Amino acid sequence: MTIHANTSRKLIDQFGRQVDYIRLSITDRCDFRCQYCMSEDMTFLSRDEVLSLEECARIVRIFVQLGVNKVRITGGEPLVRKNALWLFEEVGQLSGLDQLVLTTNGSQLAKHALALKAAGVKRINVSVDSLQADRFKQITRTGDLTQVLDGLQTAINTGFDGIKLNTVLMRGINDDEAEDLVAFAVHKNIDISFIEEMPLGDVNHARDSTFITNQDTLKRLQSKYTLLPSTHHSGGPARYWQVANTATKIGFISPHSHNFCESCNRVRISCKGELFLCLGHEDKVELMPLMRMHPNDDQPIIDAIMNSMRIKPKGHDFDLKRAAPAVIRFMSHTGG
Ligand code: SAM
Ligand code: SF4
Repeated sequence: MTIHANTSRKLIDQFGRQVDYIRLSITDRCDFRCQYCMSEDMTFLSRDEVLSLEECARIVRIFVQLGVNKVRITGGEPLVRKNALWLFEEVGQLSGLDQLVLTTNGSQLAKHALALKAAGVKRINVSVDSLQADRFKQITRTGDLTQVLDGLQTAINTGFDGIKLNTVLMRGINDDEAEDLVAFAVHKNIDISFIEEMPLGDVNHARDSTFITNQDTLKRLQSKYTLLPSTHHSGGPARYWQVANTATKIGFISPHSHNFCESCNRVRISCKGELFLCLGHEDKVELMPLMRMHPNDDQPIIDAIMNSMRIKPKGHDFDLKRAAPAVIRFMSHTGG
């Protein structure tokens, strides 16, 4: 294999921001159909339209050579991809990578938590939008809450560096559970993030009426808990609060606010190998054709990634009031 590695090269965009974090979606498929993420009758990509696991490993290796030290594997549901563990094992061995992390719906965690830990996964985000079985089923359409909570407990018992719940709150659907979800996180000694719903994908769901701001959620939680501003910062769109006298931090991920864009340190790679420079923009670089054209030479891919830094936008452009979604692609395709 020809390697023209220039390890001194870092990914710095035109605004001086260094990209040291990638999120890689390894499948658009999922065993759930969450209302805000997928339509009921999704058409999924065929196998050759999706990066092979070897291609996923190659992309991560190249990014790590370019100074990336944190990789999040996501989807769709990453753990429903056949042989996904092989990828975690490959990536977990890369020197220069400090943090291999995962976002999952938890349905397969009971089966895989131990192997994920052995592969080097440090942190896991588990998406849970409700603690009520019937409501959970309604939101996810196909999900089984007991299976997810078993998976979560197995992960807690396995002992990762961090486990966090991710919750999308929707007005009139699950916003009345904010306090209960925090109480659950406190009880389990884990963190929780509330994510504002983003206008991604045409999922036939009335976002204007269900959208709820994190400011409202914060106010609601402050009437029950003493929350202390935390200095913890992930480089992303989250602001954290410590629940007084507990181990639990609450994150508020507000993608509609522009506050986080100036410190943005990340890019996303879809399961089709599209490099998206910003969650709210269509600017992208197609890595899959380049990789297939140059199976033994990383340099054209390195060049494309370096050049992409020139088109990373300053900030996003979400607007819930638009009739059509600002960005048509599905979160499950791009990765959350
Ligand atoms: N299947 C995994 C899961 O659910 O955690 C990983 C992929 S999922 C796309 C990643 C995260 O994106 C989840 O926490 C999910 O709640 C969130 N998500 C999906 N669609 C969203 C949307 N339209 N707005 C905000 N968050 C969304
Ligand atoms: Fe699947 Fe995650 Fe999307 Fe829900 S949010 S449908 S679990 S990819």
